[in-house]
Amino acid sequence: MSFGKMMDMPLTISSLIEHAARYHGKTEVISVETDGTVTRTGWAEVESNSRKLAAALKRLGCEMGDRCATIAWNNRRHLEIYFGVAGAGMVCHTINPRLFPEQLIYIMNHAADRVLFFDKTFVSAIAQLRPHLETIQHFVYMGAPDPEVAAAIDGVLFYDDLVNAEPDDATWPELDERMPSSLCYTSGTTGNPKGVEYSHRSTVLHTLGANMADGIALSARDTVLPVVPMFHANAWGVPYAAAAVGASMVLPGAHLDGDSLADLIDGQKVTMALGVPTIWLGLLNALKKRGSKAESLQRTLIGGSAAPSFMIRDFNEIYGVELLHGWGMTETSPLGSINQLLAKHADLSQEEKLKLRANQGRPPFGVELRVVDDSGNVLPNDGKTPGNLQIRGHWVVDTYFKAEKSALTADGWFDTGDVAMLDEDGYVFITDRSKDIIKSGGEWISTVELEDIAISHPGVANAAAIAARHEKWDERPVVLAVKAEGANPTEADILDHFKGKIASWQVPDRVIFVDSLPIGGTGKVLKNKLRDEYGDVLIAEHA
Ligand code: ADP
Repeated sequence: MSFGKMMDMPLTISSLIEHAARYHGKTEVISVETDGTVTRTGWAEVESNSRKLAAALKRLGCEMGDRCATIAWNNRRHLEIYFGVAGAGMVCHTINPRLFPEQLIYIMNHAADRVLFFDKTFVSAIAQLRPHLETIQHFVYMGAPDPEVAAAIDGVLFYDDLVNAEPDDATWPELDERMPSSLCYTSGTTGNPKGVEYSHRSTVLHTLGANMADGIALSARDTVLPVVPMFHANAWGVPYAAAAVGASMVLPGAHLDGDSLADLIDGQKVTMALGVPTIWLGLLNALKKRGSKAESLQRTLIGGSAAPSFMIRDFNEIYGVELLHGWGMTETSPLGSINQLLAKHADLSQEEKLKLRANQGRPPFGVELRVVDDSGNVLPNDGKTPGNLQIRGHWVVDTYFKAEKSALTADGWFDTGDVAMLDEDGYVFITDRSKDIIKSGGEWISTVELEDIAISHPGVANAAAIAARHEKWDERPVVLAVKAEGANPTEADILDHFKGKIASWQVPDRVIFVDSLPIGGTGKVLKNKLRDEYGDVLIAEHA
């Protein structure tokens, strides 16, 4: 018997941008450039420039699989580089500019980057790093020729020259979908950063998974603002997802303060925006101050760290914005779960619905989650047993870049380093990163829950809970809180606020007010720094 046969076309990143150009060519891509000017192009121009860039890289001698790095904000050239480098069969290695110089040097040498694309902001930093970069042959400034840049970086190439020199009829090469397409290092708060190398196939499958109706669900009617940086887990896959459906994009450039974002949302009629909670704290404050209602905004995806429940409520009740809470990590492309309600929740009260929407949601088709104990035994999905969260799926890392062995468990799962509970519907409740959890007398206390309660006090602008060493209980919770503008709560006020919301033994021992919290490169609070500084406060007090 002979079988029928379906077409077998490779799942490539160039096919995403070709689709966007073919069917959504005039849909706008709006970009705030590093000098603050705003440019408006469309998917057809993004495709044509990225195709020319692919040809230019080949002309420079780059070969399939070579890493081309970027140190840049979210802007239109960065978008073209995403598609151009991957579409050329090379690997787009996005680098977080906020890392320490030693980490930047380590990452670029480890990746053996051959090309480095960079924005104006980073010219002097790159001139300083250059003597330590062992493999980079071409430094490409992301702009038109600029004498200042030419003086600072000997032999620099100019992006616009490279692209303009190529013919309009340059073509995309044919690629195998299992080839690598992009590379992103985890921030490596402990030890050296590790590289996750995505493939064309994993990226396209992630794009389809992310765009499903219960996911970020972008459409041709959306104008999407990825505030999440393009150097942070591929801007959560938004550039690919937007190209796949022909959504209009707004790339916010270097200024991500609340006022700049509110201007962009109102000015460009943004319908969907994505970012970490600290960014949205800034936006909510700016909206409140200016009395703006962010009329066009319909949905926002928050992830990277836990979305405080007051934020879910405020977005919903004051601005009519649906807040989608998602969980993921660099190793998972990043979408691992996203919060949407089920049909059975339709009749719940608004209050109950908001409560349900505070957890990190359910896995989309394509990934699977489980919790296990420290010996690897699978724990029940009962909504109350915390365990080590593990994941497997089409867009989850197997082996880190240049690592000798797979990162997976013997039975093929990736251990996320997060502690979570799963319920019978698959909803995930992240309680902590395993290294952040507070172990008080053998019992666990969730820092995520403590922070959520602290931040819900009107006198608190931001808060972080850490484990402080304790003579009797090993560890006890201490909360570092930043006061809200114009508010002056006392320690006793905040401690009172915890009472009745959690068991009394979970109430923090101290609330210490600080001017600000240390924030890392991806907008998350650096708890290890706080532990270094405040980890002994309870011991010191008793000494
Ligand atoms: P890094 O923060 O080290 O750069 P990632 O960006 O990959 O790395 O961060 C992934 C981690 O962020 C997850 O393992 C989890 O601890 C945390 N995280 C992501 N989303 C959420 C969320 N919605 N709630 C709580 N924690 C989250």
